Amino acid sequence: MAKILTGKEVAQAVTEEIKIDVEKLKEKNINPKLTIVRVGTNPSDLSYERGALKRMDKCGIKTKVVELNKEITQYEFTEKLKQINKDSNTHGILIFRPLPKQLREEEIKYIISPEKDVDCLSPLNVGKVTEGDVTGFPPATPLAVMEMLKYYEIDFEGKNAVVLGRSLVVGKPMAMLLLKENSTTTICHSRTKNLKRICRKADILVAAVGRARMVNDEYLSKDTVVMDVGINVDDNGNMCGDVDFELCKDKCEAITPVPRGVGSVTTSVLAKHVVKAAKLLNNL
Ligand code: NAP
Repeated sequence: MAKILTGKEVAQAVTEEIKIDVEKLKEKNINPKLTIVRVGTNPSDLSYERGALKRMDKCGIKTKVVELNKEITQYEFTEKLKQINKDSNTHGILIFRPLPKQLREEEIKYIISPEKDVDCLSPLNVGKVTEGDVTGFPPATPLAVMEMLKYYEIDFEGKNAVVLGRSLVVGKPMAMLLLKENSTTTICHSRTKNLKRICRKADILVAAVGRARMVNDEYLSKDTVVMDVGINVDDNGNMCGDVDFELCKDKCEAITPVPRGVGSVTTSVLAKHVVKAAKLLNNL
């Protein structure tokens, strides 16, 4: 049976670190604050929001939710965002995506203040991930994978890491973060040939394909550490990952479950970003 890498203890460890940082900031009269911008009442946004608010509270980070009508115009939205950018009490801004059709993300991503962009919407932060610039804010999910690998002391230096998926929010930044930590990194996608063969050579396999239980035991070797970032709902309405956990759990070295895996760590990473933004904005 593989070692099961659960997220709860990682989230707790990160939270404890953040609490210390927040206390130090408060001694300097800096109160880290996250402003969440939500358009409409999408159930998955609301669910993530509840988790994020709870985590920020545990860390001692203040929060504000700006709920906007789903009919809001581009002009109204950008004016609101500019106001939040200017609010000196807000250190981090999280905008739930995807936005409704009338809102143009390709313009909004240039308006959000890059210094407060804790969810990596701004092209400046996307670029910083590629550059390996530590002042940037990589997206929470790939960073949560890195936190888990470090917590469980999985050696990735010089190891073969295979990332399944090349999206801008998960696959690509994941590959960049692994590369920065000196993994030998391969990115696979829907046109990759010999996918299973490439994956079997992975020491670390990150699944980010958005296909319920696509990765089965044929993608693994007994030494693979499997990090599943997938969040899917199967035909029975149950949440599941991109990896077939039941098929794989006896065939690899270690594996993250879904739920209770990588997803449990993302709000802690977000909290860490808010504290980092508060420090950078105050030249600390
Ligand atoms: P996405 O934008 O749909 O990208 C999926 C990627 O997987 C694409 O690069 C696609 O290749 C590749 N892919 C699809 N089918 C494949 C196949 N049969 N073989 C090989 N590669 C294949 O999804 P995403 O946003 O990156 O999310 C990936 C997973 O992470 C999902 O389960 C999602 O729920 C979960 N997740 C997403 C987020 C987020 O913020 N988006 C956060 C947490 C978790 P092509 O590029 O060739 O099409």
